Amino acid sequence: MRHKYVIGNWKLNGDLKTNEALISALKAGVQAKTGATCAVCVPTPYLAQARQLLAGSTVSWGAQDASRFDKGAYTGEVAAAMVAEFGATFCLAGHSERRALFGDADAVVAEKLGRIKAAGLTPVICVGETLDERDAGQTEKVIARQIEAIIAAHGVGGLTGGLIAYEPVWAIGTGKTATPQQAQDVHAFIRRKIAGLDAQVAASLPILYGGSVKASNAAELFGMADIDGGLVGGASLAAQDFIGIWQGLKTA
Ligand code: PEP
Repeated sequence: MRHKYVIGNWKLNGDLKTNEALISALKAGVQAKTGATCAVCVPTPYLAQARQLLAGSTVSWGAQDASRFDKGAYTGEVAAAMVAEFGATFCLAGHSERRALFGDADAVVAEKLGRIKAAGLTPVICVGETLDERDAGQTEKVIARQIEAIIAAHGVGGLTGGLIAYEPVWAIGTGKTATPQQAQDVHAFIRRKIAGLDAQVAASLPILYGGSVKASNAAELFGMADIDGGLVGGASLAAQDFIGIWQGLKTA
């Protein structure tokens, strides 16, 4: 059985005081599950706080992005190796907000993946189509293109040890969740596509769903055959909501 995950993405939210309260509620409410990992991806300046408060707990932590460069004259950038120094486990790459607002093209996401893996972090590669793309029947084409860029740069083996998060852009932060079947169809497509190159990589690759996951819809989404947990934005900022989502994750 594949390992399962519920990973929170705090985005550009939080401050020292709010984070402390949220983390302390998570520590109290997130019960360990065999075969599953719960984590939060915090804004980079709060990695030290996450390490201080979460070390030794059932909740892991990570960052939301890392530079495609490893060091040098790149003002404002944060290297994956720097993130790793704060005990992080995860680092997102290619979140749709990075792609749409900060120019993270497919090839850039692939470069970031390389840095994240080289730093010993677990990459969570986000892919997903916009509503226009879905309406135009382009969903599979878009997802294939995003994944092919990773494979072109790193080979199919570049996915080993990483996670994919399927996040339809139209479902992120909109309150509009993909139906379990819509999500399952895309997850199955991703797994089939990768299996065409390497059946073992495909079978062991965790694929998370993201896009308005809530405590009320998590169990049904996570019950689908190819959905191995969730990447959670808005609901990860409210401890009880996030804990409810974690509780919806069934493991063997
Ligand atoms: C996200 O930002 O990764 C996300 C899935 O957001 P939300 O849960 O708020 O839709």
